[in-house]
Amino acid sequence: MMLRNAAEQGVEVQEETRVLEVLFDGQKAVGVKVQNKDGNVEEVRASVVVDASGQSTMLQNRLKLRVWDPVLNKGAVWTYWENAYRDTGKDEGATIVIQTPNKKGWWWYIPLHNNVVSVGVVAPFDYLFKGRGSHEQIYNEEKEATPDIIRRTANAKRVTGYFATKDYSYRSKECAGDGWVLVGDAFGFLDPLYSSGVLLALKSGELAADAICAGLAADDVSAAKIGGWGPNFNEGVDRMRRLVCEYYDGFSFGKFIKNFPDLKNTVTDLLIGDLFTDRVDKVWQPMQTTYEENKKPIPTWTDPATVELPPAKANELFLPEGHRP
Ligand SMILES: Cc1cc2nc3c(=O)[nH]c(=O)nc-3n(C[C@H](O)[C@H](O)[C@H](O)COP(=O)(O)OP(=O)(O)OC[C@H]3O[C@@H](n4cnc5c(N)ncnc54)[C@H](O)[C@@H]3O)c2cc1C
Repeated sequence: MMLRNAAEQGVEVQEETRVLEVLFDGQKAVGVKVQNKDGNVEEVRASVVVDASGQSTMLQNRLKLRVWDPVLNKGAVWTYWENAYRDTGKDEGATIVIQTPNKKGWWWYIPLHNNVVSVGVVAPFDYLFKGRGSHEQIYNEEKEATPDIIRRTANAKRVTGYFATKDYSYRSKECAGDGWVLVGDAFGFLDPLYSSGVLLALKSGELAADAICAGLAADDVSAAKIGGWGPNFNEGVDRMRRLVCEYYDGFSFGKFIKNFPDLKNTVTDLLIGDLFTDRVDKVWQPMQTTYEENKKPIPTWTDPATVELPPAKANELFLPEGHRP
């Protein structure tokens, strides 16, 4: 929808065209080399290159900017069901999160169009994949252990094979350089627990667009000018990350709201993505009062010294046989 809208607003859109590399003149990005669907390669010059390549993280890889999150390394296995249980009324389309009974992971339950529901399980990477057989086996074992998922899919028909990802959260050290900007997953990826990915992709796109417009108007596309939004954006991502980590550490929103009813609206604001204001920071101190004794502080995303990281980490996506990305 956004791509079509951009085209309607006068943007020249080229689909089925692959960016092969970003062209640099010294430190400054000056354009891209692209290959169109007929195989022709050409160079396109640009004042600013926006890398929105998702988890391919084109520039982040090239410039070695990635910082892996020291805590959030999860895997997911999912499939799609037709005719699975749907709530009624205004909750029909509601996304639901269901904890696995052993509390090691959680299920997403996302009603889609055409009577299809996406049902997937997320858990720590090692627990989910190490020594456990095929993705189908893993999925079925976790499903059999979760009565709510059995119940919701009892009359449903599975309509695809099994998808899986090995997802480590990451962010780039920089959101921009001279003549280039990173947005969306090309900048960073955060654990999908609270479905924040699209919000963060849109927000970073919006902030980058404003900064680029100001830069072009001032004839200054330096890193400082087109990347000034980075610190504020990172603070917002940190707020969502903290909520995610608190959940994995056993934090209960229900109990918290019972103890601090005045903060219910603020917690709701955070969860729906009101992340870019310090107004919401008043929840953290009361949250800390609910911690169990000896709870370890949550390491920051720039603190990789706290855990042992595998030497060759990479996010991977596994598709069922015959499925095209
Ligand atoms: C398991 C899982 C569950 C998730 N659940 C949710 C959810 O419920 N809600 C939510 O908001 N988010 C969710 N997310 C996150 C969300 O999908 C992403 O954050 C979001 O899609 C990022 O948008 P993007 O535009 O940055 O990247 P993408 O949507 O990945 O788009 C990148 C685009 O760039 C193209 N591209 C890549 N390389 C090149 C190249 N060299 N040349 C040309 N084109 C290229 C790709 O083909 C793709 O079209 C989930 C993610 C995962 C892994």
